[in-house]
Amino acid sequence: MPDETTDATPPFWQTRTLAEMTPEEWESLCDGCGKCCLHKLQYEDTGELYYTNVACRLLDLGNCRCSRYETRQKLVPDCVALRADKVMELNWLPSTCAYRLLANGQPLAWWHPLVSGDPDSVHAAGQSVRGRAIPERKADILDHHIVTWPA
Ligand code: SF4
Ligand code: SF4
Repeated sequence: MPDETTDATPPFWQTRTLAEMTPEEWESLCDGCGKCCLHKLQYEDTGELYYTNVACRLLDLGNCRCSRYETRQKLVPDCVALRADKVMELNWLPSTCAYRLLANGQPLAWWHPLVSGDPDSVHAAGQSVRGRAIPERKADILDHHIVTWPA
């Protein structure tokens, strides 16, 4: 008789807090959207924060991943390394960011690669910067590149 039982073990992101995850689990949570690697502007007088469509010079605009991930903070000193205890303080993380969603008790989206099983689903769903961001060298004045879609 065939075994009709199914493996109903919930995935790690549903059973462990961000702080409890292994380094591998933590890294796998990044959906590869690349939105957090866009330059942001914050106006001193109002404190308002805006995204631009200008990508950090190390962002690969094809796969939307950091091209020098291991050494990124030496190469780009203001690159922020996410930490479990800091996620809630980083108000510039996009609303779709997996770390932000889980920190707020929300589920991952259907297009998240961990959910879909397909690393390209984030791009296919139009949730990444692919095709929408421009390289730093092509940007003149950041204020001219403000966009609302990443937030
Ligand atoms: S916004 Fe979040 S999920 Fe998207 S690339 Fe950045 S860290 Fe990863
Ligand atoms: S250094 Fe890498 S991880 Fe940091 S902002 Fe630039 S592309 Fe993103």
